[in-house]
Amino acid sequence: MSVPTRPTHHCAALDLEHAGSGVVLMGWVERIRDLGGLLFLDLRDYRGVTQIVVRPGSGPAAVAKRLGAWWVVAVEGVVLAREAETVNPTIDTGRIEVEAQRIHILSEARTPPFPPTDSEGVAEELRLRYRYLDLRNPRLQRNLRIRGRLAAEIRGHLDDHGFLEVETPFLTRSTPEGARDYLVPSRVHRGRFYALPQSPQLFKQLLMIGGTDRYYQIVRCFRDEDLRADRQPEFTQVDVEMSFADPEQVIEVTEGLFQRALGAVGIEVTPPFPRFTYRQAMDRYGVDRPDLRYGAEIRDLTELARGTGHPLLDRVLEAGGSVRGIAAPGCAGFSRKRLDGLQAAAVEAGAGGLLWAAFRDGEVRSPLLKTLGADRLRTLLEAAGGGPSDLLLMVAGEARTACEALGALRRQLAASEGWTSPDQFAMAWVTEFPLFDHSEAEGRLTSVHHPFTSPHPEDVDRLATDPLSVRSLAYDVIANGHELGGGSIRIHNRAMQQRVFEALEIPPAEAAERFGFFLEALEYGTPPHGGIALGFDRIAMLASGSASLRDVIAFPKTTSATDLMTGSPAGVDSSQLDEVGVALAKGRTEADDD
Ligand code: ASP
Repeated sequence: MSVPTRPTHHCAALDLEHAGSGVVLMGWVERIRDLGGLLFLDLRDYRGVTQIVVRPGSGPAAVAKRLGAWWVVAVEGVVLAREAETVNPTIDTGRIEVEAQRIHILSEARTPPFPPTDSEGVAEELRLRYRYLDLRNPRLQRNLRIRGRLAAEIRGHLDDHGFLEVETPFLTRSTPEGARDYLVPSRVHRGRFYALPQSPQLFKQLLMIGGTDRYYQIVRCFRDEDLRADRQPEFTQVDVEMSFADPEQVIEVTEGLFQRALGAVGIEVTPPFPRFTYRQAMDRYGVDRPDLRYGAEIRDLTELARGTGHPLLDRVLEAGGSVRGIAAPGCAGFSRKRLDGLQAAAVEAGAGGLLWAAFRDGEVRSPLLKTLGADRLRTLLEAAGGGPSDLLLMVAGEARTACEALGALRRQLAASEGWTSPDQFAMAWVTEFPLFDHSEAEGRLTSVHHPFTSPHPEDVDRLATDPLSVRSLAYDVIANGHELGGGSIRIHNRAMQQRVFEALEIPPAEAAERFGFFLEALEYGTPPHGGIALGFDRIAMLASGSASLRDVIAFPKTTSATDLMTGSPAGVDSSQLDEVGVALAKGRTEADDD
C-alpha cells in the first residue's frame, strides 16, 4: 500500500460540492473522540480543520486507535455530506466529513507541553520556549498571513512607483539613531568590531548619491536598548528614500502604501491623512502622536480665565502662564475619588494641579464655583467644546506643561471610558518637528530625528543663535496614538551638515572618525533627497488587532531580549573568544554563571 506524498486538498477546502469524491488530506490529529466504536478525528493543517470519521471494524480503525494527539497523518477517504443535525457551523468544513478508507502515520508526536490550539492562559514563557507549537495556533497563523500580505502589497506598491529594492549590509559601522549598537567582533581583524545597523540611514543616502533615485528595503534593524515593554532588539522597517523629493512626495507615496497594504487586509484608510505641525499637535493634544479616534481636544482658555479673582489663576496668568482645558464628554458624574485620581495623574504628568467643573442637569459642581461663578464656568466649558453632562478639566501653568498634562488625562480617559474601538484606524501626519532637543543627561543638544535631517529653510539662520527654535523637515506618520514611522528631507551639502554637527557639539575630529566616508560622499554631487522608515512590526500588530509585537513576529524575543527557544544570547567557547581576540571581564558577566 503506497503512502501518498501530497494531499489533494487542504483541511479547510472541502464542502458539499466535493461530496462523493475521493480525497487525500494531511495534517495533525488535533483531537480524537471515541463514540463507542465510531472514532472522530479533527484533522488540522495550516488552513483549518476537517472531521474524519472512522467506522468500527474498517481497515483504518486499527491504525486510528493507535493515534495520539498531534501525530501527523495522511487520510485517504471519501467526502460525505453531514446529516443536518450534525452540521458544525463554526468551521469552514462543517457541512461535510471525510470517511477514512486508509490512514497512514507520517510522524508520531510527543504529548505537547500545552495544547497548541487552545493555549489561552498558558504562561507566555512556556509558549515562547516551544514557539513552533504555539505557531500552530490559528491566531498566530492568521497574524503571519496578515504580515506576509502587508509585505507583499508594500513591495507591489513601491515597485509600481519605481522604487528598487536594494539590500544594504548588516556588518557595518555604527549608525546614528541614538540607541546602542550590537557589536560583532571580527576574527580576521582581531580587536575590530562591526556594528549591526540601527537603520540603513547612511547607506540609503549613499544610494541616492550613487544614482538609485528611488530605493526601498524591508529590512531588519538592531537596537540594543534598555528593557522596555514591547520592544524587540531586532525589528523590521520598511525603509524608503527618494531623490529630488520634497516632503509632499514622500507623504504621497507613503499614504498610497498604507491605503493599498491595509486595504488588502480589510482596513480602509483614505488619503490625504490629516496633518498637524508638531506645534499644533502639542497644542491640541499634548503629545506628538495624538490618537484622533476621539475628540476632547485641548483648548486655550487663557483669555477667558483672566480677572476671575481666583488666587491661583491670577498668579499663573500674571506670571505669563496660560490656562488650557478639555471637556470630557459624559464624565460629569465622576465621583470625588475618580476626580482625585485625575488630579494625581495630572500632577504626575507635570501639572501643578487640576481644576475641574462638572455640569449635570443644569447644575454645576466645582470647587471653583464660589470664585468663578456658574456663568463663567459655563463659558469656559463651551470654549472647551463641551456641553451638558460633560466634565471640564483645566490646568493652569506653563503652556507646554499644561498641554502635556491634559494630553495625559485625555489618553487616560479614553482608555477608562472606552472612547476608542480597535476597528477604527485614524492615521495622520505630524510635520515640522524641532530639529534639536536639549538632553539633560548629556548637557548638550541632541537630534530629535537624526543628525542628517534638514533644518527648515525658514529657520536656518537661527542654527547657531537659537537652535532650539529651529524646525526640521521631519515628519512622522501616526495611527491611533502610535508612531508608525518617521522620516525627513536630508541635508545634502557638507557645509550645512557641518553646521548641524557644530550645533550638536560633535567635534570635527569625531565627525570625521564616525562619518568621514559619508561627509566626503556629500561633496561629490548629492541630489536633494528624503525618505521615511516605517515600523513594519507595529503596522502588522495594529492591522491584525494584536496586543503585542510578539504576536506578529514568528520568532520573537522577550522584553529582556532573550530567545527562550534557542536559548540566546548564550555563552561561547573560550576558543571562539580567543579567535576573535575577546576576553570577558571577570565578575561582571552572566557567562560566569554558565
Ligand atoms: N532612519 C530613520 C529611522 O530609522 C528613518 C528615516 O529617517 O528614514 O528612524
